[in-house]
Amino acid sequence: MRVRKSDELAKGYTPEAIEEKWYAFWLEKGLFDAEPDPSKPPFSIVIPPPNVTGSLHMGHAFNNTFQDILCRARRMQGYNVLWLPGTDHAGIATQNVVEKDLAAKGVTRHELGREAFVEKVWEWKKVYGARIITQMKRLGNSCDWRHERFTFDEGLSRAVREVFVRLYKKDLIYKGKYIINWCSRCHTALSDLEVEYEDKPGKFYTVRYPFKDGTGEIAVATTRPETILGDTAIAVHPRSERFKPLIGRKVRVPLTDRVIPIIEDNMVDPEFGTGCVKITPAHDPNDFLVGLRHDLPQIQVIDSEGFMNEAAGKYRGLSVEDARRAAAEDLEKQGFLIRTEDMVHAVGHCHRCNTTVEPYLSEQWFVRAKPLAERGVKAVRDGLIRWIPEQWEKTYFQWMENIRDWCISRLLCWGHRIPAWT
Ligand SMILES: [Zn+2]
Repeated sequence: MRVRKSDELAKGYTPEAIEEKWYAFWLEKGLFDAEPDPSKPPFSIVIPPPNVTGSLHMGHAFNNTFQDILCRARRMQGYNVLWLPGTDHAGIATQNVVEKDLAAKGVTRHELGREAFVEKVWEWKKVYGARIITQMKRLGNSCDWRHERFTFDEGLSRAVREVFVRLYKKDLIYKGKYIINWCSRCHTALSDLEVEYEDKPGKFYTVRYPFKDGTGEIAVATTRPETILGDTAIAVHPRSERFKPLIGRKVRVPLTDRVIPIIEDNMVDPEFGTGCVKITPAHDPNDFLVGLRHDLPQIQVIDSEGFMNEAAGKYRGLSVEDARRAAAEDLEKQGFLIRTEDMVHAVGHCHRCNTTVEPYLSEQWFVRAKPLAERGVKAVRDGLIRWIPEQWEKTYFQWMENIRDWCISRLLCWGHRIPAWT
């Protein structure tokens, strides 16, 4: 049989010609469009919306392919399938990339003002949002594009307000003074998930705290001598034979004229450092909790910009790093420093701009996570949700049973406004 030239199979697969042609055909025929149909069992996936910070990467291609396989398989099995597409406004991340873009042109968001800045972000969203959608289409995603959403569109902003008010009325959202992760560059609170830990070389300073009555001293080790200025107690472990007799005694805080008590608390690891720890409730999350248990004062010595404030006395106006150096020098000069050792410790950094995160005491909004987590745990225990592979169930329970309240405040221009702004 003679083969015509045009029927010959091309040597290589050329996706451009084939994929675009068939994708256009699928869309034209409305093959991914979902209509309510009670005769078919429903199956739907809301796409995890990609951030409009830039373009899609291999990770998106990977997880979009899985979703596409599931949707197409269900369609062939006779389900009524809706794969709902969309993009994420990604508050802090997008604000950050736009700020960087502006910085390259020598403009800051403060110079622009809120309104003009938000406009700039919308411009960015138009370009990158469109690019992402085009990429999803080129991947062949079988989404129903008629329903495309953006997490910052009017309807979703309304939904956020509605949920906020409902949770508030159920006492599941509250405003409280609490220690949170603070990025002094982004000028916002961060959730625990937005903090990345990195091992950094640092120093471990062992400092003497003299007893008030002049009968001796105890040694306390810290990586952050600048926070000594905010110490309000020294804690020892209640079962420590060595320190038990000291509980209730008073010591003088070096570099200040304050006198603070020695208290007992289970939080102290008697094996670590000298076995006693300084408690700075306003600048350390663990100390914060100790402070609440013992009703200690919370003395803030670092401000929201990452500088020492008026409570820091002569260190006022110094950056945290400079204050650390200055405090260490003064401790040495004044005879409080016993020794300095090099150490590597995990330091939290802002997930978006890499600035060192400060534990910061401030008034923020929180979701009461415990009662919500209980329902999540029950759903798995009752078999309503199944973990695959099963071994992750244990990790899930562990996570959910030790959950902390979730800080939802973000002090950003580019984000949903809760119905509580001033
Ligand atoms: Zn940051």
